[in-house]
This record gives sequence, structure tokens and C-alpha cells, in this order.
Amino acid sequence: MGSLTIPSSLENAHPVDVLRWTADQFDLADIVVTASFQDATLVHVAATTLPGVEVVLLDTQYLFAETHWFAEQLRQRFDVNLRIVHPLPEVQPDNLWQTDTTACCQRRKVEPLQRALEGRKVWVSGVRRADSATRATAAVAAHDLTRNILKVNPLATLTDDEVALYAELHDLPRHPLTDKGYPSVGCWPCTSPVREGDDPRAGRWAGTGKTECGLHL
Ligand code: SF4
Repeated sequence: MGSLTIPSSLENAHPVDVLRWTADQFDLADIVVTASFQDATLVHVAATTLPGVEVVLLDTQYLFAETHWFAEQLRQRFDVNLRIVHPLPEVQPDNLWQTDTTACCQRRKVEPLQRALEGRKVWVSGVRRADSATRATAAVAAHDLTRNILKVNPLATLTDDEVALYAELHDLPRHPLTDKGYPSVGCWPCTSPVREGDDPRAGRWAGTGKTECGLHL
């Protein structure tokens, strides 16, 4: 993987073409997709461009019931090869999210992600530059030196309007909470509804200064 040249043309490529390029370089079994299932975009692009590719949902034990329901809907509708990855057995529901969100995210997201990526060469995620300031420079494809894996973000350059257009063109279903004030959906203890016009991610860890769970740092 170290000798892989990432073409600069990916910067302007459609998400489908980004994944086609990825599939030209690697076997399907080398690729894993992680999705939050807060919307259907990444799951649809991945499942239709790379049929059979594994799509992982990290079940923190604190996901909204609606997210589990939505993941199952997408699995059935788009024939998604869905894998739900749980925290280690010794991690049980607790109060850590009230006192130490970094430690809570570490054991419920970061560590399970490491297991989900084990043995893979490519990690496909739904990170977009428009998500937040911390993601504004996200690459379409780059070597993640910390995790020793190629990270591919096929949606990186898409604007919110382009995501909405993609959903319209493909008649994608919406997460049940999207129209109830939750444009960004994570764990229920750390996700609040936002008012119309607010930053879509303002409801994540609202009032704490935290903006990322550690997966994409
Ligand atoms: Fe825990 Fe909140 Fe992180 Fe979910 S988002 S793992 S509840 S701290």
C-alpha cells in the first residue's frame, strides 16, 4: 500500500468514481465501510458501487432505536452487507458519558473501530468537509498513518445541497429523526435537536466544546 499513488483527479471525482478507483486497486475483502446511518448517502453509494462490501455500524449501546431501525431498512432495501460491531464484552452501559465523554467514546467507538478495521487495507467513511471546521481539509483519499490504512472519503467534497440532490435523485429514505430536529444523529445521551438554521452538528455534545468522537482524528 505504501507505493500506491493517489491520483489528484480524485479531488474532482464523483463519489461513485472514487469508489470505482478504490475497487480497481484493492480486493473487495480489503475494503470496509463505516457508516453512522444518520442518512443513507454513503450506504447507498457503497452498496450500489461495490455490491457486497462490508458496511459497519458501530453500536455504542447508546444509539437511538430509530438508527437501528433505519439501518435494517437500508440493509433490506439496498442489500447491504451490514456488520454491527459492539464494544468489548466487559463494556456495559454505565454513566461514563456524564463524566468523561472522551473515555466513553474511546471504549464504545474508537476501540470497536480498530477491531472493524483489522485485516483491512481500505477504510471508507462518510466524512465531508462541509460537516465542520475540523473536517474542512479532509482528503478524498489519504494514507492514515496512525491506523496504517488507506482512508477513502468519497463524499468529502460534497456540499449539503449536493447530498440533498443525491438523495432526491435516488429517492433515498430519511432517518426518522432528521425531520424532528436532528440533522446529525449520534448517541442519544450526546445528541440534542437543533433549531432550523443552526449548524447541523450543533446538537452533538452540545455545550461541551467537544466536536469529534475520535474516529476521524
Ligand atoms: Fe459515549 Fe456520547 Fe461518545 Fe456515545 S457519543 S460513545 S454516549 S460519549
